[in-house]
Amino acid sequence: ATPNGNDSHIASEPRKVALVTGITGQDGSYLTEFLVGKGYEVHGLIRRSSNYNTQRINHIYPDEVYNLAAQSHVAVSFEIPDYTADVVATGALRLLEAVRSHMADNGRTVKYYQAGSSEMLAHWYTVNYREAYGLYACNGILFNHESPRRGENFVTRKITRALGRIKVGLQTKLFLGNIQASRDWGFAGDYVEAMWLMLQQEKPDDYVVATEESHTVEEFLEVSFGYLGLNWKDHVEIDKRYFRPTEVDNLKGDASKAKEMLKWKPKVGFEKLVKMMVDEDLETAKREKVL
Ligand code: GDP
Repeated sequence: ATPNGNDSHIASEPRKVALVTGITGQDGSYLTEFLVGKGYEVHGLIRRSSNYNTQRINHIYPDEVYNLAAQSHVAVSFEIPDYTADVVATGALRLLEAVRSHMADNGRTVKYYQAGSSEMLAHWYTVNYREAYGLYACNGILFNHESPRRGENFVTRKITRALGRIKVGLQTKLFLGNIQASRDWGFAGDYVEAMWLMLQQEKPDDYVVATEESHTVEEFLEVSFGYLGLNWKDHVEIDKRYFRPTEVDNLKGDASKAKEMLKWKPKVGFEKLVKMMVDEDLETAKREKVL
């Protein structure tokens, strides 16, 4: 992807090249738009390769690698733990090793961003490569970040998808698990900017990215259903299937380091995020109704 006829990089400097794993995911798509807007040439990796003639990528010398590829759903990690570990932990290790040996062979600096969070094994690999090999490698520990592009099995998107369909009369019920759980929910579009900022500092480090505000799933229901003039209690039913074997009841991040060092702060607050997601899923539901 390249900017639309808009050569925003400085003429004397070669255009920066970034490699993004997980480019088709929520964060990958926002990050790519953001980097293209900054004049980067962006290359991405996707999972499926059938019917897809992947070209050799030996000629690509990215300046920055963003490892966003993951099995990121908590409930799914209980169902397929070995696959999750392979992708999240070993996948990160393979990429770090590729970056390290590429730098040893070519003498070029490549900066590495690891989507961290609770994937702690990948986290320590990143720290280890930074300390042992002097790699410019950073962990972003991002609290929950949502958007209209969030996967539909995450609770926020599950709610707004169902709400849109309820509003236009395509369904009546929504089944949820623990609605007393609370999360620090930010907007994915804001969070990819923090990823980029981490790679633009003098020294590599790890950062927590969060809004520092926590809301329960129930509050998400109140705001979203209320926004469309509905009462969530008329539609939501609790289903044991959606409770987790182990649950983190409350999550609230402290992003003071990112705020101070990166001069980063979230632009989209809770209500705005909820409304953005509801608006888009209402439009989707209207289109579904016509079909
Ligand atoms: P997580 O924080 O990475 O697990 O993100 P999720 O969006 O999957 O879950 C956020 C919270 O919503 C967790 O505390 C879940 O237990 C809770 N939750 C309640 N009902 C549901 C549900 O039906 N689906 C999901 N995915 N989460 C639910």
